Amino acid sequence: MTQRGSGRSTISFEDAQRRIVESCAPLGTERVALRDAAGRIAAATLNAREDLVPFARSAMDGFAMCAADLIDLPREFPVRARVYAELGSAEHSPQTATAIATGAPIPRGADTVLPIEDVETSDGVVRILRSVEAGSCIFPPGEDARAGDELIESGAVLRPSALGLLASDGYSEVEVFRKPRVVVVCTGDELVPIDAAPAYGQIRNSNAFMTTAAVEALGAKVVAASMIGDERAKLRHALEEAIGSADLVVTTGGASVGERDFVKPLLKKLGVEFLFDTVALRPAKPSAFGRRAAAAGAAPVHVAVLPGNPSSAFIALQEFVRPALFALGGRRDPLPSTHPARLDGRIRAKPNSTYACYAQIRLRDGSLVARPLDNQCSALTRSASEADGFILAPPGTETFTTGAIVSVDIFDWTYVGR
Ligand code: AMP
Ligand code: MG
Repeated sequence: MTQRGSGRSTISFEDAQRRIVESCAPLGTERVALRDAAGRIAAATLNAREDLVPFARSAMDGFAMCAADLIDLPREFPVRARVYAELGSAEHSPQTATAIATGAPIPRGADTVLPIEDVETSDGVVRILRSVEAGSCIFPPGEDARAGDELIESGAVLRPSALGLLASDGYSEVEVFRKPRVVVVCTGDELVPIDAAPAYGQIRNSNAFMTTAAVEALGAKVVAASMIGDERAKLRHALEEAIGSADLVVTTGGASVGERDFVKPLLKKLGVEFLFDTVALRPAKPSAFGRRAAAAGAAPVHVAVLPGNPSSAFIALQEFVRPALFALGGRRDPLPSTHPARLDGRIRAKPNSTYACYAQIRLRDGSLVARPLDNQCSALTRSASEADGFILAPPGTETFTTGAIVSVDIFDWTYVGR
């Protein structure tokens, strides 16, 4: 769906996201040591190399026995042997009990474990009070996985628990997707470094910090960041250099149609073709996304153009840079997912655009509740900092009030790669 006006083509929010993930293909792979793999994306499906665990184990500290011996209870049995995990295999004699530790292999001849809490012990004998089913308190071999079972799907984030699983199967290295290399270019004559004292009218370059941190939290690597005034020649040089050393260039500022907004025309001159150059998303409408084709065999370079206003820039980071980095980084399902939530407040849809409304999102009485934050002005940085996510309202004239079911996109910074 495109809307035309003033020579530009504005596409819907959903189309914009779809075009981004269609254009961004995974960048290639590398092998990393397992201990460096947290937060990385598996580049191949990883199968179990052996049964996990390959022997039957006791689930409890207690006594290994034959279930068939557990008759005429209560009754005492002599404790003939002991097995601990490190002792390996042992033999169990009928009509006796073998003391066993949690995790130790079940001795040959035993088929049941009685937890120590359920028996009485004294001087080398154990008194069994009640019978239990054969097989009680035993983990059978291969209970976690059988050799050949799928452990990790290609494209999955390697969470700490996945590292534990792979470690248990002896994987010391894994094939992961290469991290996208990102160059951040913040533009604007008014910008000063954050440690400078801004003169009247000047603004600290806060977008550089927000963008760099977000990009790295999304699993990519910022290889360079620059701050450039609204001057064509310098900006062109900075953009050219950025395109030469990145998989994805992220710019902020100068994205609109003002007299000093040079970013899009300069990128076009540098050979960037835009997948869209404005998008029906409020308040991040000037956001654009493009690609520059590469020489045969090389990957194209992508460019995300973000508005300068911090709150709009953050929306564009979440909704356009995030799926781009996930797709370039090989993640399964790179498109952001949304969830239904109950609205606690009031929002008005925008007639021709999807509306991204900063919200506090909480779980209450078993469902998500989204409360729009008070100040949604695109020039502010505070709403982005306080929000847990966005309410995404489809284009229209509707007003949503408390209790309405809305769609929310929750920020997820859980798996920050190194
Ligand atoms: P622009 O999109 O270039 O028209 O910028 C709009 C407004 O966003 C500027 O007037 C600044 O107040 C603010 N802004 C632009 N770039 C940055 C930045 N890097 N950091 C913080 N604020 C910015
Ligand atoms: Mg500007």
